[in-house]
Amino acid sequence: MVTTANQPPISRRGVLGGVAAVAGALALGAGTAAAETEGPDTADGPGGGNDSPGTAPADLDVHVLVIDGCRPDEIAAGAMPTVRLLAAQGSSYPNARAVDVPETIPNHVAMMSGVLPNRSGVPANAVYDRAEAVVRDLDRPTDLLVSTLLERLPAERGVRTASILSKDYLFGIFGTRASYRWKPEPLLPVTKHAPDLFTMNALLAALQTEQPRMTFTNLGDVDRFGHGDLTGTSLKIARRTALTDTDAQIARFVAALTTSGAWSRSVLIILADHSMDWSLPTSLIGLAAVLNADPMLAGNVAVSQNGGADLLYWTGPAQQRSAAVARMRSLAQATAGVLEVRTPQELKLGPQAGDLVALCKPGWRFSDPTPLSNPIPGNHGHPVTRPIPFIVTGGHPSVRRGQTPSQPASSMDVAPTVAWLLGLRAPQGGWDGKARTEAFQRA
Ligand SMILES: [Zn+2]
Repeated sequence: MVTTANQPPISRRGVLGGVAAVAGALALGAGTAAAETEGPDTADGPGGGNDSPGTAPADLDVHVLVIDGCRPDEIAAGAMPTVRLLAAQGSSYPNARAVDVPETIPNHVAMMSGVLPNRSGVPANAVYDRAEAVVRDLDRPTDLLVSTLLERLPAERGVRTASILSKDYLFGIFGTRASYRWKPEPLLPVTKHAPDLFTMNALLAALQTEQPRMTFTNLGDVDRFGHGDLTGTSLKIARRTALTDTDAQIARFVAALTTSGAWSRSVLIILADHSMDWSLPTSLIGLAAVLNADPMLAGNVAVSQNGGADLLYWTGPAQQRSAAVARMRSLAQATAGVLEVRTPQELKLGPQAGDLVALCKPGWRFSDPTPLSNPIPGNHGHPVTRPIPFIVTGGHPSVRRGQTPSQPASSMDVAPTVAWLLGLRAPQGGWDGKARTEAFQRA
């Protein structure tokens, strides 16, 4: 049972006060934008975006806020008035998508690395580790195989970074990369995440004491209360409470930037890492039992359950792999609730994702290795949970106002966008994402 005991009650007055603060900040920003200030030019960001090392533009900070598990329709529906207002005052991308697998760790890695999982080494939250012969979370610094903004901005641009991540496995995988990193606490016992109130307190404190110019924050309540929502698939009372609470925390952030005078130098990228889908206990899929009941496969398969996606691994003799994988595919495809079975190559996931990836239909979830393994109604990882909110906003005069660009923005666009703004060159091998330059005024 998830408790709200550690959270303050959110009053209607508090929420409206937050929106008023944001509206005031945006009014100031709009006035600045109306002046014919020079924004980023078409080729390079304000920092030049070239290959020569140097310093980032002195008048621009970037803050990336991840509302973990938020669906685009939840912002449109009105439970998040501050975020909705921020979206209206910037660019909101209606066709934005998470990278596969739409899970928390791979998408946070995509945001900070700008590359696909087949390069980052992080295709899902949990994989079967062949070397250790165990299913485990990808929560070790050594699991992330590429560079990220968190360490490159300080090293190459002299820009201090801060990671303020509410979940312990995110704190784990990003290791010591950021100039400053907050260790999430207190962790709630069941969800293993710090409530958004504490996460936002940490972000506001870091702004004061660490002076980061690029921050990366994960707000975990919306996801965790969506997973654990025991009111069922219709009411979702806890979920709605979390949306309102998280919105109020973002209002606090905008108010703090306004009070400190930093709003006019701030670009905010607000997005989710995946969305959420709910299923009933009658719509469970258990592939471990199906595969292990087959004489050819029994005892030689591993299944890494990721909610809406099952990663399937052949662990038997290599010479039997081809036939075994074909058998795994046909059995998985014939199982009720399975939408499709894809190869890791097709989804650009890399070898850590195993031999096959089974994806479920909306309203279903995987529960492996046993029917008791996944009791939670809210899940993601399947195609219906790919759509995400993706908003570029803030008080900086270069931010374009009131746009809904049709481009298919992606979580892996965050890194190239931030790099373009702060003059950081592409990593070796280039970006897989794309800088969202249309969200800014052109010179
Ligand atoms: Zn997540």
